[in-house]
Amino acid sequence: MAPVSASVGQGGINRSDDVRKVQQLLKQAGADPGPIDGIAGPRTIGAILGFQQRFLTRPDGRVDPGGRTIARLNGPAARAAPRRPTLPAPARAATPPPPARAVGGDWTGDSQRWSQDKKLASLQPGFRTRIVEVIRQLKAEGFRPTIVFGWRSVAKQQELFRRGVTKVRFSFHNAQTPQGIPNAWAVDLVDERWAWNEPDCHRFFKALGRIGKTQGLVWGGDWVSFRDWAHLQGRQNSELAAVKRESGL
Ligand SMILES: [Zn+2]
Repeated sequence: MAPVSASVGQGGINRSDDVRKVQQLLKQAGADPGPIDGIAGPRTIGAILGFQQRFLTRPDGRVDPGGRTIARLNGPAARAAPRRPTLPAPARAATPPPPARAVGGDWTGDSQRWSQDKKLASLQPGFRTRIVEVIRQLKAEGFRPTIVFGWRSVAKQQELFRRGVTKVRFSFHNAQTPQGIPNAWAVDLVDERWAWNEPDCHRFFKALGRIGKTQGLVWGGDWVSFRDWAHLQGRQNSELAAVKRESGL
């Protein structure tokens, strides 16, 4: 039994030895907190949220002393959970070893191939809390939501622009902290059974738009000139220039 002395994660006290313990336990439970470095960065918080989705209806990204999450992390169910690789096997085989890890997480590589936990971790924290709730409600309705893109690099955005997949050279998916840490204000979600295959996908997208809007989010399916069915964002289109400035871009 490894207790923590104070809260770890979103809004927590985050003493480094506690954070390190939680990171170790998350890893044993098959979640992906990034390096065991004692820093409660977005990737560790994303892993806590991902782990909590297994048993909490409202994940909060925080591990409190004596709380349910630490009990689960120490429980036999967590230890018995299958170890999930960070990346799907084909992607790993095709991708050369990444360069040295940045502090707080390794944000290199194709963000479309990141794990679901890591994609969640790449979202702006307040936006992420709302997306976790959207995913919970979609699952409760029997859908199988999966994140295609959380954050993506400006270089990837340019590539999608050239291919005509997007109409903008900078998007809410590209938002980052001034230090260059992913801090996306947009996410693309599909049902893993249908993706963009007509007509079934639209049952999912309708639910996505409906639930997203109850969380105060903007749904791309409402846009007239370019319907972006899978897309939810946490800011208004008119704020794009401001988000670009906040990102130091
Ligand atoms: Zn999008």
